[in-house]
Amino acid sequence: MDLFEYQGKQYFARFGIAISPGDVADTVDEALAVAREVGYPVVVKAQVKVGGRGKAGGVKLANNDDEVRLHAGNILGLDIKGHVVKRLWIEHASDIEKEYYASFTLDRPNKTHLGMLSAQGGVEIEVVAEENPDAIAFLSIDPVRGLDLATARRWVDEAQLDEVAREQAAEILVKLYRCYTEGDCDLAEINPLILTPEGKVHALDAKVTLDENASFRHPEWAAYRATETDDPREKMAKEKGLNYIGLDGSVGIIANGAGLAMSTLDVVNQVGGTAANFLDIGGGADAAVMAAALEVINADPKVKSIFVNIFGGITRVDEVANGVLEALKRVSITSPIVLRLDGTNAVEGRAILAPHLNESLITEATMLDAARRAVTLAKA
Ligand code: GDP
Ligand code: MN
Repeated sequence: MDLFEYQGKQYFARFGIAISPGDVADTVDEALAVAREVGYPVVVKAQVKVGGRGKAGGVKLANNDDEVRLHAGNILGLDIKGHVVKRLWIEHASDIEKEYYASFTLDRPNKTHLGMLSAQGGVEIEVVAEENPDAIAFLSIDPVRGLDLATARRWVDEAQLDEVAREQAAEILVKLYRCYTEGDCDLAEINPLILTPEGKVHALDAKVTLDENASFRHPEWAAYRATETDDPREKMAKEKGLNYIGLDGSVGIIANGAGLAMSTLDVVNQVGGTAANFLDIGGGADAAVMAAALEVINADPKVKSIFVNIFGGITRVDEVANGVLEALKRVSITSPIVLRLDGTNAVEGRAILAPHLNESLITEATMLDAARRAVTLAKA
């Protein structure tokens, strides 16, 4: 789960990483109140889960009330790479002497953590990696041994941060590593980490991705989940524990396994249709899961047909067939359903469905035929 910048900064602050004083604002009036509270000059920052907000006009400096009104008014509602700004973060503006980059992420092939540190921050790290790879100091960290201050000190030397910034930066790196590991992040990134003309080092931006596998030990993450998505379909799916992503098309998709669900989207596209969603029901294709899946898809007004694509493996197709029939007793579905059932116990599964088939419950023998039928129905 990705966090907004303001949430990432609050997360950082829990581990003692210095940030600028600030607060969130959902309206121009709230922005004004925060600006007066933290003191001018302030930065008005769009809260969207996408990088490059600065370049897109989502980060503006304001020196007085009028400038806050102007920028907050412009940024609220702004579309940044498909993300509409609904919330601002207003913080006291910093003077910047230097911009650095620091992050921790997982290096899966090496079974280690990977630290990246650069004296050339502010710009996207991908750009630095491309144009000036030597400007990034990589640090491979054994997860058992962790990162100590002595290592962090050598690391800031290697990255050639300005002398005056090194000790503070090393301390921040140790804190950021703790945030990354104890805070169960997949990514903890500060870009830019700044040095001020007064010689202070602190975080100006925060990019945090939480590792959902660790959510069981973080009840406090519920607050982040509440702001995770504005899509009512995704909210409903999340409440029902489904692995669902909303899309714009008209064919609702249910498949078992993420790979098959992706292939199903491709096949629907291939025959000229558009998918309304991605939905992987995993191995547990029982009636409860199937009913939940059908209910979420049925609640989407754009859906005109539903394509259920099941390849039985450990999941047995006869169980899925019973699940579908049971689900249809529980929820009333308005769109026609096209099923492709194959794999373990497919013959038994199709036999279970056979007496119930009609113009709104259809089976097709192959994935391609089922996709064609679902797309035709969606266009009818
Ligand atoms: P991003 O573009 O989404 O990564 O947003 P950032 O939070 O990183 O802000 C983009 C850029 O705006 C930074 O690299 C800074 O150059 C600038 N910026 C952000 N906050 C401040 C600030 O307090 N003072 C000054 N002078 N510039 C800032
Ligand atoms: Mn940034």
